[in-house]
Amino acid sequence: MRVITPNPLLPVSGGIGTPKPSTQKNGDLFVRALVFEKGGVRVAIVNVDNLGWPAALGNKSRALIKGIAPENILIGATHTHSGPDAYGFPNEKGENFADLKYLDWCVQQMADAVNEAIKNLEPALLKTAVGEAKGKIAYNYYADQLYDPRCGIIQAIATSGQKKGKAIATLVNYAIHPEVIGSGRGILSPDLCGPLYDRIEAKGGGTALFMNGAQGGMVTADNRRENKEEANNWEECKRIGELLADEALRIVASAPVQENPSLFCTSRQIEFPVDSEIMRFILKNSPIKNKMSGENKVSTQLNLLNIGTAQILSVPGEALPNIGFYIKRKMNTKQPFLFGLTNDAFGYMLTKVDFTSFKRYDYVSRTSLGEMTGEIYIDQALKLIEASPKAD
Ligand SMILES: [Zn+2]
Repeated sequence: MRVITPNPLLPVSGGIGTPKPSTQKNGDLFVRALVFEKGGVRVAIVNVDNLGWPAALGNKSRALIKGIAPENILIGATHTHSGPDAYGFPNEKGENFADLKYLDWCVQQMADAVNEAIKNLEPALLKTAVGEAKGKIAYNYYADQLYDPRCGIIQAIATSGQKKGKAIATLVNYAIHPEVIGSGRGILSPDLCGPLYDRIEAKGGGTALFMNGAQGGMVTADNRRENKEEANNWEECKRIGELLADEALRIVASAPVQENPSLFCTSRQIEFPVDSEIMRFILKNSPIKNKMSGENKVSTQLNLLNIGTAQILSVPGEALPNIGFYIKRKMNTKQPFLFGLTNDAFGYMLTKVDFTSFKRYDYVSRTSLGEMTGEIYIDQALKLIEASPKAD
């Protein structure tokens, strides 16, 4: 892993609009990498503490990574709402405030972290599990109960050397908006992900990774207090991050050891029309030079992995939880993982019937590529599942 906390601090971004100045930090921002190898297959899973990490940045890191095919590198953003702007959000005048030097430095740190993980590859056993995380962690801000409580865990355990029998790394996959602190408090922070990493490591889980899930519209951290109040501080990030870490370690503890798990990785490029005027404006005016695949079209990498009994599918944005449930149900495994905001983060992804339906969905519809985004994703995801082997 690498620390990517900017020094001096930078303004933080929680979405479209001008980033807000930060004057202090709660915790550090990280890039974290986990590399798997078996036979001729090598795969990297990378997470970065940021709101979203466009492929224009991810591809620069991919080009600097030696020994892993670019299409076998999955890069996911945690979606913390208290990190520097990586989109280069333009204002109405087309001006933006992204720090390109900082972003280039992050690109290098990410490549360095993966290259180091490759160098440190060692024999390991795997444990994978999916189970319900209990306690006050997430809820749906639009409709309390409409969220997915399942937490997926992948843990690698060393079989030789000084760490024999101990965990090398623990990956946690869970759908939640890390926005306890948010972008309006002058604080730069990994939000609840920071305390989650620390807790996993303190309890012997090795390097911790966090990959988000289908957390769109609007699965968020359950920081509710009485009388419609919310806890919005670092203490609350700790409470939620540590509870999720404890639940992840509890769920994986009883999982059987997989001594000879298979490793499979496939990908395809999928294309979305950009119907939204706002999204067109952002994509075209951002200084990070997003590559369009045609007139008002974007394409992105969709990945499917089998790691032992677990199957993982990537999502290039913020899929609503109903899409998440549906895709997980169709995956060829009893342990489905969805890596949200991975390889790209194109805003919210709704089904066509949800698009501009409830008034509640105005915001998520406006900040989506268009009516067909969710439909195209579902169609392509099902095809990729169909064309791939099932998990062990
Ligand atoms: Zn979001």
